[in-house]
Amino acid sequence: DLRPITATTTTTCGYCGVGCTLDVHVRDDTVAAITPTHGAPVNRGHACVKGRFAHTFTSAGDRLTTPLVRRDGQLVETTWDEALTTVARRLADIRDRHGPDSIAMISSARATNEENYLAQKFIRTAIGTNNIDNCSRLCHAPSAAGLTAAFGLAGGTNPLDDLDHTDCILLAGANPTEAHPVVGARIKQRVLAGARLIVVDPRRTELAALADVHLQARPGSNVAVFNGIAHQLVEEDLLAHDFLDRRTTGFDDLASLLADYPPEAVGAIADVRPADLVTAARLFGQAEHPIIFYGLGVTEHAHGTDGVRTLANLAILRGAVGTPGCCGILPLRGQNNVQGASDMGALPDVLPGYQHITDPTTRARFEHVWGCALPERPGLRIPQMFDAAIAGDLRALYVIGEDIAQSDPHSSHVRAALDACELVVCHDMFRSRTAEHADVVLPAASFLEKDGTFVNFDRRFQRVRPALAPLDHTATDFEILQRLATTLDIDLGCPTPAQAMAECAALTPMFAGLSHQRLDAEGPLHWPCPSVDRPGEAVLYLDQFATPDGLAALAALPYLPPGEQADADFPFLLVTGRRLVHYNTGSMTRRTANLELLPTETLELHPSDAARLGIPGGAEVTITSRWGQATLTAHPTTDVAPGQVFAAFHFPSAPINELTSPHTDAATDCPEYKVTAVHIRSA
Ligand code: SF4
Repeated sequence: DLRPITATTTTTCGYCGVGCTLDVHVRDDTVAAITPTHGAPVNRGHACVKGRFAHTFTSAGDRLTTPLVRRDGQLVETTWDEALTTVARRLADIRDRHGPDSIAMISSARATNEENYLAQKFIRTAIGTNNIDNCSRLCHAPSAAGLTAAFGLAGGTNPLDDLDHTDCILLAGANPTEAHPVVGARIKQRVLAGARLIVVDPRRTELAALADVHLQARPGSNVAVFNGIAHQLVEEDLLAHDFLDRRTTGFDDLASLLADYPPEAVGAIADVRPADLVTAARLFGQAEHPIIFYGLGVTEHAHGTDGVRTLANLAILRGAVGTPGCCGILPLRGQNNVQGASDMGALPDVLPGYQHITDPTTRARFEHVWGCALPERPGLRIPQMFDAAIAGDLRALYVIGEDIAQSDPHSSHVRAALDACELVVCHDMFRSRTAEHADVVLPAASFLEKDGTFVNFDRRFQRVRPALAPLDHTATDFEILQRLATTLDIDLGCPTPAQAMAECAALTPMFAGLSHQRLDAEGPLHWPCPSVDRPGEAVLYLDQFATPDGLAALAALPYLPPGEQADADFPFLLVTGRRLVHYNTGSMTRRTANLELLPTETLELHPSDAARLGIPGGAEVTITSRWGQATLTAHPTTDVAPGQVFAAFHFPSAPINELTSPHTDAATDCPEYKVTAVHIRSA
């Protein structure tokens, strides 16, 4: 099509947490092309196959453009007025009969910061409960808990650009080549330029194949592996003594625990060669500027927070945080705005900026501006919401832009919870699996139709600008919440996203210097950004850590086994993850040409296991866990170790979360997606 482009808008990618800046070129109210923005700080002119090409979902024929309500068991089209009146009337009725804590909201890591700010304000002020959570519960809640306990704040310690200065990368439980492609490419470039690479991952990923050492550890053994590396750092005195003396606490307890983690013992737990552990420790310990990236392979475990803490130990032992020239530890966030959804207080225990809801001074400040009394008791986490619904204590669930029936573990339990509720409300662009259990479905706008901000994985606030007008009869999550509040006869204030950001900044010291106006003028800004005359802090803790005593806290944590292990009945371990061309539940990417690149999901298994079980490539296999069953097509590959299988959760036709278990991280309730015992047989 050679007709001229009519408008180009610079915005932030709505897929992964890297947060690439993109130029969206529009012709005749349709996206004609997307290109990476020249000179953008995060992506430096690059973008992946999702950000560049997966945009035609905005004009997909099955996009919802009319609200739906359930009548006589069927979802039928209705008007916005009737849909909003129904939601408002039924929420008010349930609140009157059962109290505000009988209602809960799941906000969205794909929604903007301003929408998340408004969502938590709505549930706390219009309903009167702290029952709000977001999908960070399912991915990086252990990062927030672990990094806060170690250093004081719930974000990565350094900017991505510090990758340019590193001489050694420790990549744990992450496959950025597929899940965070621009970061994956930058890691690869750095390795090709001479940096050493250590990969801890049960799969042989592209970066693992490039690594100096690949610790192909058994799923669920991270804490043992990290303690094993720490043991060797202590054993060989590869420690930052001055830093440890001046700026840390807990060394003696840790050193005592590490005596139990010599390479041979860790090798037996994790099924790795002791010599490789020693090599990994020496590479990391002898590097001048080590950097750690990690992902959901560290967090989504029954001891995920312990995994983050023991990984943070390695950075602390080497003085790789809070010192000039250090490269730090960075969690690779999954969805585009999962950092921001939590930063905005879409969590059951904190208000924006991680200000605790139980603190009376904090509550009073918000109550003064919001003009209401706030509930003091922390609310329910997502897994607790499902349990409460089945127990009859939770009567209404309001879900913004997440397809929990496909993305959350132990799907039969999620469906039972949805069906137990009196009222389920969804905002979505499509008739998702969750929508099929809803009483009201409200047609939502996409990120290409929104105004606001996202926060990427290295704590950068970036502008989101509408490249398209919302499709007729759809609305942004921000507009829907405002209209619903009005229907409830409540004024939420902050009528525009810019005003919501201004209100959030006024109430949140760590965001006090942020505004749309400043982001438009200066470009992305890191948090903390405490005043308008200071830049955001790209490197944290140069003066002191944000812990109560100002010291980084080492943690002496023993290895504990995962919730499930392989046994005679379920002899394989299933690990779940993602594929390059698709994203999350696939609701957007499956409606683009990316589907032609990967039209279906397969089950990866080792060729030796496939041969032993008589399963040829392409055969249908039935996978069964203690929690459910699914059928996938077999794909023998040496990318997985013998005794393990792998699949992603992008396709409803491969419902892998039918199998995943209800085991969760003890500290945060993050599900253990990465270890499920299964058996497999020919279908
Ligand atoms: Fe979007 Fe992530 Fe790809 Fe960048 S790397 S274009 S943020 S999906």
